Amino acid sequence: MSTIDGLPPLREVIARHDLRARKQLGQNFLLDLNLTAKIARAAGALSGCDVIEVGPGPGGLTRGLLAEGARKVLAIEKDARALPALAEIAAAYPGRLQVIHGDALEVDPLAHLTPPIRIVANLPYNVGTELLIRWLTPASWPPFWQSLTLMFQKEVAERIVAQPGGKAYGRLAVLAQWRTDARIVMTLPPEAFVPAPKVHSSVVHLTALPAPRHAADPALLSRVVAAGFNQRRKMLRASLKGLHPKIEDLLVAAGIAPTARAEEIALAQFCALARGLADAPR
Ligand code: SAM
Repeated sequence: MSTIDGLPPLREVIARHDLRARKQLGQNFLLDLNLTAKIARAAGALSGCDVIEVGPGPGGLTRGLLAEGARKVLAIEKDARALPALAEIAAAYPGRLQVIHGDALEVDPLAHLTPPIRIVANLPYNVGTELLIRWLTPASWPPFWQSLTLMFQKEVAERIVAQPGGKAYGRLAVLAQWRTDARIVMTLPPEAFVPAPKVHSSVVHLTALPAPRHAADPALLSRVVAAGFNQRRKMLRASLKGLHPKIEDLLVAAGIAPTARAEEIALAQFCALARGLADAPR
């Protein structure tokens, strides 16, 4: 039986190439090609875009991205066992799929691509969070990518889009929302994957804003947010004490009560505090 792209169904691909999922590589595969096409569509208009796909595995999402019209897909995969299956996809889409065998935390894909660039991944969650933080903190803004469409554990996805006032709100929310529009576009039950993970997963779509929402020095904002949320139960006048001798005055000037806790503070106020710190004499 063949599928819409003429390639075999993913169960057959996995059986033929003996691609049994390995826990140590965080492998939970998506086998439903309708679902992978839906995720590819959630990445936005793909025609005219180069797409970086991290962790293609047997290639379900890769096939979705190609079928949805990506100009080129550059796929980075750590598991050599997946390479023959990916080579079959490359043969079905001549000149449009390039596969790099390597660790996405080490490979620099940029040399191979032409903007506009979108990034799409269904990755192990620890690798996903590390890459997300890297992609959100480049040396300059706007970044090299136009959007990120990433699968996370639902709880991590909720932390990325969280608003002030709850436990989910923290560094990840501030970092993401300062320079992107971030939203959850889809939530999937464990059974959508083979093998099924223990928890639900969500796809988060982040679009790079042309400029940050509020002016702030990235390093100072990062220090404020790290100090505030590292001791999130403490009042800010205590958790931020080490940042400046007159931190209480700077908090008040930024419109923040010194007795407030980090999780109550909106992004605009964190940025105002970072600006205040940048201007304050020592
Ligand atoms: N994208 C496929 C899908 O949706 O079915 C596979 C998803 S599976 C959750 C994660 C994939 O990422 C696996 O193929 C795994 O081998 C790969 N992977 C894990 N760590 C990686 C890393 N550091 N760099 C590149 N690929 C990695």
